[in-house]
Amino acid sequence: MTDSPASLQLIKDLVSFDTTSRNSNLKLIEFIKGYLEAYGLRSELVFDATGKKANLFATIGAPDRGGVALSGHTDVVPVDGQDWNTDPYEINELDSRLYGRGTSDMKSFIAVCLAKVPEIIDMNLNTPVHLAFSYDEEIGCVGVRTLLTKLASRDNKPTACVIGEPTSMQVVRAHKGKISRRCSIHGLESHSGLAHIGVNAVEAAAEIIAFLKSEARKFRDEGPFDEEFSPSYTTVHTGLVKGGTALNIVPKFCEFEAEIRHLPGDDPQLVWDRLQAFIDAEILPEMQAVFPQASIDWHEISTIPGLASSDDGLIRLTQEIASTSKTACVSFGTEGGLFEEIGIPAVVCGPGSIEQAHKPNEFIEIDQVRQCERFIDKLISRLD
Ligand SMILES: [Zn+2]
Repeated sequence: MTDSPASLQLIKDLVSFDTTSRNSNLKLIEFIKGYLEAYGLRSELVFDATGKKANLFATIGAPDRGGVALSGHTDVVPVDGQDWNTDPYEINELDSRLYGRGTSDMKSFIAVCLAKVPEIIDMNLNTPVHLAFSYDEEIGCVGVRTLLTKLASRDNKPTACVIGEPTSMQVVRAHKGKISRRCSIHGLESHSGLAHIGVNAVEAAAEIIAFLKSEARKFRDEGPFDEEFSPSYTTVHTGLVKGGTALNIVPKFCEFEAEIRHLPGDDPQLVWDRLQAFIDAEILPEMQAVFPQASIDWHEISTIPGLASSDDGLIRLTQEIASTSKTACVSFGTEGGLFEEIGIPAVVCGPGSIEQAHKPNEFIEIDQVRQCERFIDKLISRLD
């Protein structure tokens, strides 16, 4: 087909690997490693503790200096329970769209980067281009952290990073951070007619959840506000509660999960600190007066730092390359804040729409793939 984008075959190849986060991503990583080897490039793999997943880092050009990193995650969300019209791991082309799991989020970006490798090599750039492909992004930006720990102290730590999450090729300079925690409350069972000798874990949970709700209202009513976000303030939310066995039993156990999605400038720890002070002053003493072993424990589920891109020059450059005068803020998290934490300025710009991500019949407009190819062409033409 004459009008197929150059990266089409690589998109097909990458989508064919079922890299759902619970699976190993090594077959896909080996595929990319082999592809890069064919161009004489060495890949560094940074494995997880099980050895079944890996990040891949490769440098095109001088190995001793910073440069631009093109970054993406190799894992995808599950298709379980989703009603797909086609095989999610096989690209189906229809109406100028490519259907398949990961087409938008975010294997097409990785495919475009790989397709451009021979051209980048031929340009013999002074500024290296790095490829940074991670695992387990979808379960809390878990994988990239080990790679970034290694990069942090190196001579070739990238000086800028473009993260190709699906933004419809808009330049995204900021997103909220997220911190989520599970709370386990251990009380004491008793007959509900003798509630005074039991310690009701569900009621303790309710009071803690109500406190979190009061924090949510405070953010909503008093800010701080950043109108570029929707909603324009930090949110606090409880999404799951489990507890109790029967109405006539004082419940001895309750568990709930809550999250804070905060503006990049807000410190979510302050919320947890206020909550802990409330628990220590109001909740635990009353519980432990009846049952000294009563406890309230927190388990961190995930923490994704917010992104506030620190390099105006990088933002302007990305805008020029993407031919847009605007920047955007988005409501989903990326690995960008983690790059920023080790001093690598990051911006998010990639093909496809987040609206198609994570859904059955995920697709990418072929035009988005072409736009991304042009974006990478222009980006490398700006490097010396
Ligand atoms: Zn993604």
